[in-house]
Amino acid sequence: MRDKIVAGNWKMNKTLPESKALIKDIKNAIKNEELQNIRVIVAPTFVNLRSAVKKAKKSVVEIAAQNMHQADSGAYTGEISAEMLKSIGVKIVILGHSERREYFGETDSLLSKKVDQALNSKLEVIFCFGEVLEDRKSENHFKIVESQLKNGLFHLREKDWKHIILAYEPVWAIGTGETASPEQAQEMHKLIRKLIAENYNQSIANDVSILYGGSVKPTNAKEIFSKEDVDGGLIGGAALKADDFVALIQAIK
Ligand code: PEP
Repeated sequence: MRDKIVAGNWKMNKTLPESKALIKDIKNAIKNEELQNIRVIVAPTFVNLRSAVKKAKKSVVEIAAQNMHQADSGAYTGEISAEMLKSIGVKIVILGHSERREYFGETDSLLSKKVDQALNSKLEVIFCFGEVLEDRKSENHFKIVESQLKNGLFHLREKDWKHIILAYEPVWAIGTGETASPEQAQEMHKLIRKLIAENYNQSIANDVSILYGGSVKPTNAKEIFSKEDVDGGLIGGAALKADDFVALIQAIK
């Protein structure tokens, strides 16, 4: 049975004290909740990861990094390696977020290297992908998503898929207040599962968690999360306030 997941991407938000306080508030708010098969993940900025790992210890909250470099180590000023993340207790990394693709020029081919590097270092990967508005308007969205998956992930071995979480994030819905309808999300998630079944097998397709991301909030989460192939959300804005984020966790139960 695949996991349900609520993951918060804090992006370039929260100072160290704010980051500590948010983790504390989330922890306290969910400590008495029954969260069977539900994973709660938050992704603070790099400099706050070490403290976040400590703060989240002995709770269900898991800590993810927002990015990582594809090389083992070396002369890459300002970059962070998989082993560095591992060495401070981080076990999950988000790769391919649309902001990395758009503002930092990350391509499918670069991302496939990052995915390999993360898996080689035994990190779990939340792999993000999704079409831009023009692709949707021109009805190319299925093709784009298929090519992002093919180029980024379909070189993986069957056994690698245990360490992959997918996050379908239509770029036009990220931070815009515009959400894909629950039907649009379900339609795409179903296609994604079908592509995995065709390229691998049905059991891998059934087991992989596929998150939806794009302006998920307490007011729309329940409907989106209720769709058969939607296994949770990757959340931006609504992950920055404990009350909202906890409401999303409750919405998936
Ligand atoms: C995101 O950046 O992954 C995201 C989904 O952001 P928001 O929830 O703010 O749209």
